[in-house]
Amino acid sequence: MRAVPVDDIMAAVIKKVGVIGAGQMGNGIAHVAALAGFDVVLNDISADRLKSGMATINGNLARQVSKKGVSEDDKAKAVGRIKLAEKLDDLADCDLVIETAVEKEEVKRKIFHELCAVLKPEAIVASDTSSISITRLAAATDRPERFIGIHFMNPVPLMELVELIRGIATDDQTFEASKEFVAKLGKQVAVSEDFPAFIVNRILLPMINEAIYTLYEGVGNVEAIDAAMKLGAHHPMGPLELADFIGLDTCLSIMQVLHEGLADSKYRPCPLLVKYVEAGWLGRKTQRGFYDYRGAKPVPTR
Ligand code: NAD
Repeated sequence: MRAVPVDDIMAAVIKKVGVIGAGQMGNGIAHVAALAGFDVVLNDISADRLKSGMATINGNLARQVSKKGVSEDDKAKAVGRIKLAEKLDDLADCDLVIETAVEKEEVKRKIFHELCAVLKPEAIVASDTSSISITRLAAATDRPERFIGIHFMNPVPLMELVELIRGIATDDQTFEASKEFVAKLGKQVAVSEDFPAFIVNRILLPMINEAIYTLYEGVGNVEAIDAAMKLGAHHPMGPLELADFIGLDTCLSIMQVLHEGLADSKYRPCPLLVKYVEAGWLGRKTQRGFYDYRGAKPVPTR
């Protein structure tokens, strides 16, 4: 077996974490990492998204304080550990950088290209992608052996699971350091092979897509479909409510990756999902999806 170079051992110590994308996943990852004691640099192309991401972190931490899960002191320390950054240059000395920008391969590739030009060579680069090949994303970096999929679940502060996905070149140090990082966040790891949508979304998204077909074909309306799965299958959320929660653009991207990656017509995205995305009705994050969230109570849109 190859001796582990000293540099590799050093790289395994993660202290400072960069997060690219301050949307619902990025702010959640920054939140849990800071609470676990890591220094965090949170980046987004939009200054507004950085501001609203930080406001969400503050609000979610305040809720944890009110439920006595977190002390005021720990909240203040966690907030103090998060630095906002509008430029990728500010992530240069991070030990681990987790990309959690939009689910578009060309956007992610461009980010990795720009990030690797400034990031220290021993740092680990990870993607929170829901579905895109880790091996392919790794190939867009200068360090495929230090690249890994760290797939968090939404909402990050509440969900226990993180999927770890090795690309074809991911080395053992990167995998072990990532596993240790996830354990320090108090989360459980499920290891998935690098196939489209991994484990959770390979199972979950076809179910959501089928619920949208059920709506599209008029088998049931929004309320009936969600009530059926909540009361009839004991799901905590109905599939359409869940789709709105995930984001309909993300749902569509995942179905497209499954459809293209597995070349099986059973994964074809429902045309109604495409229509909602084309309308810009992306679910909760745009206030409208299968429900309209602009009033006091969510109202079905079909
Ligand atoms: P989101 O739309 O809430 O946030 C995406 C953020 O990325 C936005 O703030 C946007 O301004 C930012 N962004 C876009 N281009 C950027 C760039 N070039 N540099 C920096 N920031 C950029 O999306 P989300 O739901 O947080 O999803 C983000 C990623 O996490 C996707 O890859 C998605 O598949 C994955 N994911 C989502 C979920 C979910 O349930 N929504 C769960 C697990 C993983």
